[in-house]
Amino acid sequence: MPGGSPVPNRYIKSELKSYRLLWEEERPIRWPYMKILREYSTLKEFYPEINPYVEAYRIRENVWALFQESMDGAGDLWMYVINGPERVLLIDTGFGVGDLKGLVQHLVGSDKEILVANTHHHYDHAYGNAQFARCYCHQDEEFSMRRTMNPHIWDYLFDENGKNIYTEFNRNDIIPYQEYELILIPTGYRFDLGKGYEVEAIPLRGHSAGQCAYLDHHNHIIFTGDIGGAGRRYEGDPCADNCTVETLWRDMQVVVSRLDEIEAMFPGHGMLDVTSSLLRYELDAHDRAEWTGAGAVCHEHPSGDGGQIQPDECVPQDTVPALRKQGGKERENRLSAILHRPTVSGKPDAEGRKTSGGDRASLLQDHCTLPGK
Ligand SMILES: [Zn+2]
Ligand SMILES: [Zn+2]
Repeated sequence: MPGGSPVPNRYIKSELKSYRLLWEEERPIRWPYMKILREYSTLKEFYPEINPYVEAYRIRENVWALFQESMDGAGDLWMYVINGPERVLLIDTGFGVGDLKGLVQHLVGSDKEILVANTHHHYDHAYGNAQFARCYCHQDEEFSMRRTMNPHIWDYLFDENGKNIYTEFNRNDIIPYQEYELILIPTGYRFDLGKGYEVEAIPLRGHSAGQCAYLDHHNHIIFTGDIGGAGRRYEGDPCADNCTVETLWRDMQVVVSRLDEIEAMFPGHGMLDVTSSLLRYELDAHDRAEWTGAGAVCHEHPSGDGGQIQPDECVPQDTVPALRKQGGKERENRLSAILHRPTVSGKPDAEGRKTSGGDRASLLQDHCTLPGK
């Protein structure tokens, strides 16, 4: 979301050609993480003669995370490059400022075909699409994505005098817009990067109508895009109703049921290479957002054995935030129970507290038996 404050975050050394004028509020965990990563990491590669707006970090033998500053006052962002045996997959394209295609070709050291897949259509994730002849996105994202397919997408970054509003950069460094082909993919689509190397599309809708994660089956890592909260609905979008926390919650349950396939997650913003068990906490946070007041939670069976939960089999739910405040063995046991067992509320817990009401419990039953969408 465009915005930002003139109050800067504390200094992080940067050789990027961009310079932020407006800032997102400094994040207490993200800022020190980025300070250390950007100033001290040996993973960093920077090729200003090719693209002075992007830093690359080699996060796996064949994978890079590409860092770009936000151009519209929001959070700095990540794109990702997977160098497969025969083809390259670029996940997201940032703001489209600077030569992204040239940088990717330089990193992989070849002119292999570059497939481009978007997590979603937002400014900071898809405005470099026009540097490529075709781009993939989840089919539910089509309406949103087509809204961005025009040469005026960068206009909002400049005032009436043509000056940068949010971040200082040279307008001539925007690679001029060209029409590109949008290819829609269904849930479960697998990109073939050659010699059996596959990357699977797993929708994580809610933040946008067709926001999609990508699971690298070779490295067992998932690129999640943005999964914070429900996004804006566009009038006329047949998938607008996906933009709810509930949809995100349903889709996240599917991902959480597959955690044994995922070693680490790489989001669209912030800390990288995060343990995939964080997704359970993320799911818990969405539970709280969706069912505030009830404290009600109903998880898909985490073992992923396909078994469906009946509410009677479920155990009362403590909240992770509540347990974090407690200490000792009891806390560990109960936290473990939350994170490893299917749960649903609607019954009194050990202290006799009722954790949810009847209507809500029946809704939760639907969630239990109908994970995914
Ligand atoms: Zn977004
Ligand atoms: Zn974003």
